[in-house]
Amino acid sequence: MLTAVAARSRHPTVVRGSIITMDRDCPRAQAMAVVNGRIVAVGSVQSARDAAGAGAREVAFSKGAVIPGLIDTHNHMHWTGIQLGIVDLSGCTGIAGIQAAIRDYAAKNPGSQWIVSGSGWHVANLKEQRYPTRQELDAACADRPVYLPRGGHAAAVNTAALRIAGIGRDTPDPPGGKFERDPVSGEPTGLLLEPPAFEPMGRLAPSISRDEQIAAMREIQKRYHAVGITGIMDPGVTPEIMAIYQDLWARGELSMRAVVMPLADSSRPAEEVLAGLAAWGVRTGFGDERLKIGGIKLYIDGGASFGTALMREPFPDERCNCGIQVTSTDVFRRIAAFCAEHRWSLGVHVVGGRAIDIALDVFGEVDRAHPIRDLRFCLIHAYLWPSPNNIARAHKLGVVVATQPSMQYTFGPLLVKRFGAVLMGKATPIRAWLDGGVIVGGGSDSPITPYSPLLGMWQARTRRIEGHNEAIGREEAVSAEEALAMYTRDAAYVSFSERERGILRPGMLADWVALSVDPLECDPEALRDASVLATAVGGELVHSLSQ
Ligand SMILES: [Zn+2]
Repeated sequence: MLTAVAARSRHPTVVRGSIITMDRDCPRAQAMAVVNGRIVAVGSVQSARDAAGAGAREVAFSKGAVIPGLIDTHNHMHWTGIQLGIVDLSGCTGIAGIQAAIRDYAAKNPGSQWIVSGSGWHVANLKEQRYPTRQELDAACADRPVYLPRGGHAAAVNTAALRIAGIGRDTPDPPGGKFERDPVSGEPTGLLLEPPAFEPMGRLAPSISRDEQIAAMREIQKRYHAVGITGIMDPGVTPEIMAIYQDLWARGELSMRAVVMPLADSSRPAEEVLAGLAAWGVRTGFGDERLKIGGIKLYIDGGASFGTALMREPFPDERCNCGIQVTSTDVFRRIAAFCAEHRWSLGVHVVGGRAIDIALDVFGEVDRAHPIRDLRFCLIHAYLWPSPNNIARAHKLGVVVATQPSMQYTFGPLLVKRFGAVLMGKATPIRAWLDGGVIVGGGSDSPITPYSPLLGMWQARTRRIEGHNEAIGREEAVSAEEALAMYTRDAAYVSFSERERGILRPGMLADWVALSVDPLECDPEALRDASVLATAVGGELVHSLSQ
C-alpha cells in the first residue's frame, strides 16, 4: 500500500509504458515526465528522464497501456456515494430478493424509523419486469414506511409510507407527477412516478448527516479511481450538495476533478429560479482545476423505462401515453434565455424525441439573441430517437451530447420488449452524432447504471445489451479510438476542461490511468474485463493494484 505521504508526493516522476496520448500530433509515446502535477514531456524514455531531472522516480508498466484519466460526463457522484449507506437493491433479480433485502435490513436495524433503499436498482433486472406493489412491500415490512426510490423518476412504497404521506384514493396527482392506481378500486398501488409525486415523501424520511455524506464521498471516490475515473460532471446538484463538494475540496480530500452542475428547480416559479442564479454573480467556469461550476441542469422530461419520457408518438404498449413534460416550454425558454445572456452553459435532460425537439427549438430561438456556440449547451441522454434534423441543428448550434452507453446496456432488455429490437437499435445513436460532427462525451448516469467507463466503451463498440449475445443496432457502434475519445479528449471538451486534461501532452494535468490491456488494440471483450493497474490525478497515485 502507498503511504499517504508517498501518494501525495510531488516528486518528479517518469511514467514508462505504451502511452496512448489521444493527442493527434503525437498519438503514441514510450514515456512521459511529470513535475508538480503536470506533464512536462511526452516521448522517448530518454527525453522524459531528461525533462524530469536527476533523481526522478520511475513507474513502469510492462504490459497494457497508459491512457489519459477517464472522465464521466454524467455521474451523480454524491448520490452514488449516499447509496453505499442504505439498503442496496442493485443485485436483486426478483421481487422476492427485494423483500428479503428489506426484511434483512429491518431485522438488523430495529431502531430505524424508515426503510429507504438506494435508487440504483432496475425493474429490467427483476424477473417479474415490474415494480413491487405496496402489498408485496407490506409482506416484507408493514410496521414502518418502506420507500424505494428508483432512478430519479419513480419510487415504490408500502402502505405505511402512503399513509404517513397522506396519499389515498382521493388524493389528486400533483402537477408533473402521477400516483399509479388500481384500475378497479382506484386505490394507489404504491408506485409514484416523477419527483413531484415522490419527493415530498422522501423529505419525510430521516436525512443523512453531513459527516455521513462526507464519509460516503471519500469512499465513492476511491471506488471510482479503482475503475480509472479521474473526473466527473455531477449534474443537478442542490446548494447542500455543492457545500459538501466545497467541504471536501477545502480539506484537500477531493481527489476527483469535479464539475458540478447546479439544478434549476423548475417546480419553483421561473422568477425565483432566475433571481437565485443571478444573485450568485458567478457562472460556468468558476472554480479551479479540481472543483468547477459547469452548466445549469434542467429536466425536460422523464425516463424511457418509466413511461415518462416525452415521446413524439405514444408508447407502443400504452396508446394514450406520450410521457411527461416536467418543465413547461415557457419556463424552459426563460431559463435558456437567461443562460445565453449571462453566459451560463445549460445541460438539459431529454430522453424522448419530443423533448429533444423542444430543446433544440428553444436553443435555436435563444441563439438568435445571444449566440450559444461557446457555451456548449448540452443534450443529456438524447436517447429515444434523435432525428437527422436534430443532429444537424445540434451541430450548427455547437450543442454537445452527454451519452451513456451503460444505459443502453442496462435498460436494453426492458426497452427491446417495449419498442422492439429495430427501434432500440436506433437508440443512443452515437455513430450518427459523430458522423454529424457533434461532440459526444461518454458517461454512466451512476447510480442509475454501472459507472465503469470500460463497460461504457465496450458497449459503445459492441452495442450489446444485458443478457443478449447479439448487437442491438450494430450500425451505431463506434471505433476503439472513438470510444476512448468519448471518455477522454471529448469528455474534457464537454466538461470545459480540454485545455487542462483529456490528452497527455506537455502542460496538461498529469491525470493518467494504466490498464492491463491496450484499449486500441485489444478485443472489446478484453477491454471490458481489463484491470485498472493504477490511476493518478495530478501526478498523485489515487489507486494502485497491488501486484
Ligand atoms: Zn442523471
